[in-house]
Amino acid sequence: MYVHNNLSSEIAMKQVWAKQALLTTGWAADVLITIGTDGRISKVTSGAKPQGERVNMLLPAPVNVHSHAFQRAMAGLTERRGPDPSDSFWTWRQLMYRFLDQLSPEHIEAITAFAQMEMLEAGYATNAEFHYLHHQTDGVPYDNIAELSDRVMSAASTTGIGLCLLPVHYQYGGCDQRPLGDGQIRFGNDPDQFHTLHQQASQSLHNLSGDAGIGVAPHSLRAVGMDMLKQYATLHPTGPIHMHLAEQIPEVEEVSAHWRARPVEWALENMGLNDRWCLIHCTQMTPDETIGLAQTRAVAGLCPITESSLGDGIFDGVRWLENDGMIAIGSDSNIRIALAEELRTLDYSQRLRDHSRAALATQDRSTGRRLYQATLAGGAQATARDTGALAVGNWADMLCLDMASVHTAGRSGDTVLDAWIFAGDDRLVTDVWSAGRHVVKDGEHHNKARITSAYLRALQDLKDAI
Ligand code: ZN
Repeated sequence: MYVHNNLSSEIAMKQVWAKQALLTTGWAADVLITIGTDGRISKVTSGAKPQGERVNMLLPAPVNVHSHAFQRAMAGLTERRGPDPSDSFWTWRQLMYRFLDQLSPEHIEAITAFAQMEMLEAGYATNAEFHYLHHQTDGVPYDNIAELSDRVMSAASTTGIGLCLLPVHYQYGGCDQRPLGDGQIRFGNDPDQFHTLHQQASQSLHNLSGDAGIGVAPHSLRAVGMDMLKQYATLHPTGPIHMHLAEQIPEVEEVSAHWRARPVEWALENMGLNDRWCLIHCTQMTPDETIGLAQTRAVAGLCPITESSLGDGIFDGVRWLENDGMIAIGSDSNIRIALAEELRTLDYSQRLRDHSRAALATQDRSTGRRLYQATLAGGAQATARDTGALAVGNWADMLCLDMASVHTAGRSGDTVLDAWIFAGDDRLVTDVWSAGRHVVKDGEHHNKARITSAYLRALQDLKDAI
């Protein structure tokens, strides 16, 4: 079990002064942020004289809106093909099954803490964890049915990341409601069992610091029954709801064959989508579906690096943003945890498809500024977290960029964001605070050595499986 976040006791009221900062009103100079003992921003003053902790460039730190943390340990190991050249998932699936036969609660906690540490070092203040691994290797629940949810929370306690836990409801092996396959038995719950698990996890969440939150995640249209999905928002009347939607062509074909509608078409007609929802991927949409889904105010949870890795397809970002759609960014498979690279990949995918440049920029906002700002707003909405802006009442989720780097030297305003995203990388992130917890300094997590050695021990243990 875990203890109450030991970092929170270290939080006294503190002040961070920045030479430049991105506020809700735009770029401002000489900004003093006061952080209350609860980890929320209590005051924002521009034109203040230097005092407290002094930094150069201060930005709101975004949410990582979609992650399966345990998959971090599989990164880089699935780049070979199996005997059937058309089955590009073969190596990934084989490895995943071997892996699932071995993973213990201790392994999961160590791998999750390592992934969360990398998220913080990349500049994310929050981990929305789409957590679907629930049971023992034979599919039987642990004595505490929420044991593995507790392990994710324990990792968050170690790393100090803001957690939005999304326990995943996964019931069937496909739209025909076939039973789960061998590799899926650790995920499965019927609605009653899932309800118990969710309640248990909600109880445990009280042991984390006050910024931690919980939502719910029906895995996908294939994994939960049609009738259940229609009532999901009613059954869970508060909090965020996340679901994978329209990621790959076989999924579109399966849903179309069984339900006589394409995935997004069906979701629009039956699920009462609104601003509580975050739909992950949405890489397979028609233009009409893109416009229709954007208008619901649901967030599109985009994972550009993973979607590239898996060959999912290209999200229609141009049309989505033209229709005022909300977006957020997630590291999903965690093959590479890299905030700037996610945003760069998103815009580059649009350019490659459309033969364009600065695809998602507007007349008055550069590509970097528009994407960063949209990601902040979408991440906040998708996790119901008071974040996304350096503003009074929000959690102090903040990051600093290195202005002495060759990439940022002499830059100011939006071009700093463009330089970070398109010319530099996350090595420019020097400091990160999550709800006032100053967990990354000089580019490194304060607990890096211990978290890394626990991760390496887990990998050593698992080496026969991976
Ligand atoms: Zn996912």
